[in-house]
Amino acid sequence: MESNQSPKSVKYCHCGSLIKSRTSWTYMNPGRRFEACDNNHKNRVGEHYFRWLNKETCTRGKNVVPGLLRRTRMMETEMRETEERKNVVVNTLQSLEARNLEMEGIIEENKELDYAVKDNRRLRLLLEDNMMRHRRR
Ligand SMILES: [Zn+2]
Repeated sequence: MESNQSPKSVKYCHCGSLIKSRTSWTYMNPGRRFEACDNNHKNRVGEHYFRWLNKETCTRGKNVVPGLLRRTRMMETEMRETEERKNVVVNTLQSLEARNLEMEGIIEENKELDYAVKDNRRLRLLLEDNMMRHRRR
């Protein structure tokens, strides 16, 4: 006689949601497989489908895995903080580059003004020179 229940058959909770198999990463049951309704974690135990798929995690696992999990979570937090600091540095760099471009523009404008002032001075000298020559006549 053939079993009509394949291991990959889709199962549904009485609430209509799909039952999925997952791995627990809690301190009490690290690495233990279970299958549960997606709504199970948000609600009280017993209201939705939940079943452990393998035996309780061995004592050694219970002693070792929580420490490893803590370290992994700390490293993940550090990575996130490093990423955030990197973003701050990148943003600061971008605004400094924008300021730099602005300053370069101002320097160029100043140079042009400087030329204009020198030009003005030259023209004024020419004019004064001309006026002096006219008075002498
Ligand atoms: Zn459910």
